Amino acid sequence: MGKLLLLIFLFGCSQQKNLVAPIVAITEKHETSQSAYPTQLAQDLARSMKLNRHVSVSIVRSNEQYAFCSNNGTILISSGLIRTIPNEASFVFIIAHELAHIQLEHQENNANEEDADKLALTAIFRAGFSPHHAVSILAHGRITDSRRANIQDVLRSLPIDFTGIIDREIFQQFKLSL
Ligand SMILES: [Zn+2]
Repeated sequence: MGKLLLLIFLFGCSQQKNLVAPIVAITEKHETSQSAYPTQLAQDLARSMKLNRHVSVSIVRSNEQYAFCSNNGTILISSGLIRTIPNEASFVFIIAHELAHIQLEHQENNANEEDADKLALTAIFRAGFSPHHAVSILAHGRITDSRRANIQDVLRSLPIDFTGIIDREIFQQFKLSL
């Protein structure tokens, strides 16, 4: 069940008018809390992406695995997904990918994952995190071949000797607190 939800929801983005149903369904069923550390990460990324709007991250207490955004700037990430994330760079990638959907004004039915990945990887590189380690979250996911190839292309376009932040204590502490 968790795996299936990961494939459906991971990096999904809901159009604002369609947002009410999934968010109401989730918040009725699960406890959600806005969290300072990921919200700060999202706000820093949004600024560096020149995404000029308020963004926030809420954590859903659920063992299911998903992340999605609305174009009002809200990102929801389940605690079940966060527990599977190996390092902070991967966590930042998930947040940046959701912000990319917002910036690219993707709609629910025509979200281009390749474009969102490209923008996200470039943003986390600029923010000082390691894009190479960021994609380890996708290693076991069933993503399309074209998306995988696109990620390799983006990584090749970034400086090969760049070593950014892979992980920090603050992420591991946050993960343990869930
Ligand atoms: Zn996506």
